[in-house]
Amino acid sequence: MEVYACAECGFEQDLASAETVPTAIVDGVGDVVALVAGAGPAVHGRRAPGVWSPLEYACHLRDALLVQRERVLMARRIEQPVFDPMGRDERVDHDGYADQNPDDVTRQLADAAAMFANVLRRLGSADWDRTVVYGYPERRVRSLRWVAAHTLHEVRHHRRDIEDQLANEDG
Ligand SMILES: [Zn+2]
Repeated sequence: MEVYACAECGFEQDLASAETVPTAIVDGVGDVVALVAGAGPAVHGRRAPGVWSPLEYACHLRDALLVQRERVLMARRIEQPVFDPMGRDERVDHDGYADQNPDDVTRQLADAAAMFANVLRRLGSADWDRTVVYGYPERRVRSLRWVAAHTLHEVRHHRRDIEDQLANEDG
């Protein structure tokens, strides 16, 4: 059994049941949307230098979902594509994450999750085993099962990051 696991947040996903990932992504993003929408002005501002604000995390997650969607679509039409980095840090400035309207971002985030989930749900059993060259955390050949699990992990791990930032506000 091949499991995607993160020791830091406790996330585990059996790659054999990657078909459950699209629904889990939509549900997980629903939780993030509720957190951000319910936080009011606390979505703005970094609690520590170098740690993104809740709004910046939400923007990152939206962009990650859109990038992963394009990557999965590419993997269906090209044999083992090699992905360039998404530029997670550059986008914070290039897309002006901190200046975006939280209402827009939560709406876009929910749409991005639905759009990515739709592409995943259209994968047949052989498609899930198509491979890509993925650069993070190290350059390796990965299946689309892994790409889906990795993206669900992004959702869960960043939910935790946002919760930590919001908890920090009270402390
Ligand atoms: Zn994690």
